[in-house]
Amino acid sequence: MKLKIYNTLSRSKQEVTPISGDTIRMYSCGLTVYDFAHIGNLRKYVFDDLLRRTLKYFGYKVKWVMNITDVGHLTSDQDEGEDKIEKGARKEGKSAFEIAEFYKQAFIDNLKKLNIDMPDVLPSATGHIKEQIELISKLESRGFVYKTDDGIYFDTSKLDDYGKLARLDKENLQEGARIEINPQKKNPTDFALWKFSYPQGRDFDQNVDDQSKRRQMEWPSPWGLGFPGWHVECSAMSTKYLGQPFEIHTGGVDHINIHHTNEIAQSEAAEGKELARYWVHSEHLLENGKKMAKSDGHFIRLMDLEERGFDPVDLRFFYLRSHYRSKIDFSYQSLEGSRSARRKIVDFCLSLESGEIEGEDLFYREKMNEFDEALSDDLNTPRALEVIFTTITEAANKSFRGAFAKKFFEKIDEVLALDLFKNPFESIGFSGSKEILIASSFEQEVAEISKEMALRKEQGDFFASDELRAKLVNMGYVVEESQKQIKIYKK
Ligand code: AMP
Ligand code: ZN
Repeated sequence: MKLKIYNTLSRSKQEVTPISGDTIRMYSCGLTVYDFAHIGNLRKYVFDDLLRRTLKYFGYKVKWVMNITDVGHLTSDQDEGEDKIEKGARKEGKSAFEIAEFYKQAFIDNLKKLNIDMPDVLPSATGHIKEQIELISKLESRGFVYKTDDGIYFDTSKLDDYGKLARLDKENLQEGARIEINPQKKNPTDFALWKFSYPQGRDFDQNVDDQSKRRQMEWPSPWGLGFPGWHVECSAMSTKYLGQPFEIHTGGVDHINIHHTNEIAQSEAAEGKELARYWVHSEHLLENGKKMAKSDGHFIRLMDLEERGFDPVDLRFFYLRSHYRSKIDFSYQSLEGSRSARRKIVDFCLSLESGEIEGEDLFYREKMNEFDEALSDDLNTPRALEVIFTTITEAANKSFRGAFAKKFFEKIDEVLALDLFKNPFESIGFSGSKEILIASSFEQEVAEISKEMALRKEQGDFFASDELRAKLVNMGYVVEESQKQIKIYKK
């Protein structure tokens, strides 16, 4: 089956086909590593993973590159403000390089927990300064740049179709009113390719004797000591690893107007050909109606959810319940709903048997078609999940729990990666004849309390055992006791 995807460039759904050969090349703008990723950022990377898995599921070969922004991402998209990583370093009393490395590793850890397969290449901006300088030099030799006191800028008036992705109206463009505009910029849309550490592009500024004001991340260049503008890294690294043009470029919707618009401008001006064919953008995650943002100070990280007893894959499921082009409003209540919905599927999968059942074959083949159709239509995961739930209801009625069922669910889990065959409960041992089962993402002390509770009950000390049970309930756990088992999980 072919995948149709919404291309922001054409504002329509288009069938994905390789430009040449048989591989889909895909580039995703990665995280700026000055803090932990929040669950808004992570929605975007689960989407990238879903897209890559879907392409593979439909038989395409895929090469996926995602960058790590570890330099030069300023607090505004308008090339003003402080470098976020340098700022983070000062705040934490560490070097900018240490900060970037620490948060990069934390990010990779998040990706693994969310079942996001590692990209084929994960290049960092600081490892590609040479390539970025080469790109700027090329733009300089083609007459697209000019110099101001604080850096080298791209002259957007030199490019006829500047702003085609965002469909910007060049005549009436207004930059954010809050940000002071560099008065030397020729056009409001012009953007920095190289920022100087010191004004005028000198290699040293006698006036900067206060060491704390000096940048930690800076490099020599033909234009003076400094660092690359944020957009340059993506142009330089995508082309290095994927060539130009490549097929798919992804990002959050916030990247359309500035970051991706400027990536396109740089790369297409430098090479005289298109950068990427399909521009795919995923929507934001909101909390109380507002976009979750690191700069806000308040945001939710994966570890915050784990501390509350959620499995990271519950979050993955939560994302997939909405279409990637719809906003999602996050709440713990809806995450709980996702957890129990996912457990229903897992329970069903764990109940499957290996023998073949008559009539099953055709039933699951039809369901597979419905599932594939949902995914092929611009990754319609809410519809795909609906197919799964109706499949479970109908299969339970018909007692279709055999080998074909297993194949069906294994196949869909290749693409959704929801750990459908992993028991969310872990056995922590027996108390008498009863097995104590605890949901795998639990707080450490819960295991101790549970064991103690079961032991006291076995010894006939019901008062103590009831007290321990009440303690678990107070901590937000459900204690379910049957003949053979005690199951403990977060509500
Ligand atoms: P940044 O580290 O700021 O470059 O952001 C990394 C990625 O997360 C980008 O692709 C953004 O579009 C995306 N992003 C940022 N905030 C949100 C949000 N609240 N919901 C979804 N994606 C987001
Ligand atoms: Zn980018």
